[in-house]
Amino acid sequence: MSESSLRRDLVRYSHAMYAAGWVANHDGNLSARVAPDRVVCTPTAFSKADVGLDDLLVVSSDGTRIAGRHRPFSELALHRAVYAQRPDVQAVVHAHPPFATAFGAAGQAIPHPFLPEAVVSLGATLPLVPLTAPGQPSVDALRPWITRCDAVVIAGNGVLTWGPSLELAYLRMELVEHLARIAHGAVALGGVKPLPQSLTDALVSKRAKAGLAAPDEGRAPERPSASAQSDHSARADIVHRVQAGLPNADPALIAQLVAQIAAGQGAR
Ligand SMILES: [Zn+2]
Repeated sequence: MSESSLRRDLVRYSHAMYAAGWVANHDGNLSARVAPDRVVCTPTAFSKADVGLDDLLVVSSDGTRIAGRHRPFSELALHRAVYAQRPDVQAVVHAHPPFATAFGAAGQAIPHPFLPEAVVSLGATLPLVPLTAPGQPSVDALRPWITRCDAVVIAGNGVLTWGPSLELAYLRMELVEHLARIAHGAVALGGVKPLPQSLTDALVSKRAKAGLAAPDEGRAPERPSASAQSDHSARADIVHRVQAGLPNADPALIAQLVAQIAAGQGAR
């Protein structure tokens, strides 16, 4: 796709994101790869309703601005981490869609998978990345998931999705929010029912056959070095690895059990 069509799409999806109610104030950011080592992206401190073609900027793979009159957004570090690890990815989208963001703010993963079609689109893992300080800690928290899935909820922030096109990254954002809205609605009816493992497995292999799987999909992340982690993030990491291995288990229950075990160890 030419740079001019990508620019038009970035503006179009910025406006769509605002119209969908996924951003407020200056929230959200979008980027698309125009060459192996450069991306076009939205500027910082702009309502997504107001982004125009002339407001977009071009940045190199180290985050340096190459063209454009505005400054890049600080969460560009997350986008750059995704591009660096996923040569197949052409676009990254970040927003704060209210239902998915609510799950993250409550410290809960969306209880995916509960709809078969969503497994084909997103795989069986939709992790909750722990809340960290901005900058490098947020990149470190995201890194284990970049090659394992195409969408994450970030606690205390929002949703980050990526894909082989801006359209697919955007549609994944839309799907994550849709799932979160359904899961939230189902709470009043007793909560969503997880898919049977055999069905999830069949759908995951269908997805792999269609060439949609992320490179390390289904593999639990390795444990990051203990020295780089606080107790809290170490615990969150255990929760995520258990989630990856048991995609049908209740994320809240896993988090509760891990917290109880950690509390028990602390008391001894
Ligand atoms: Zn954000």
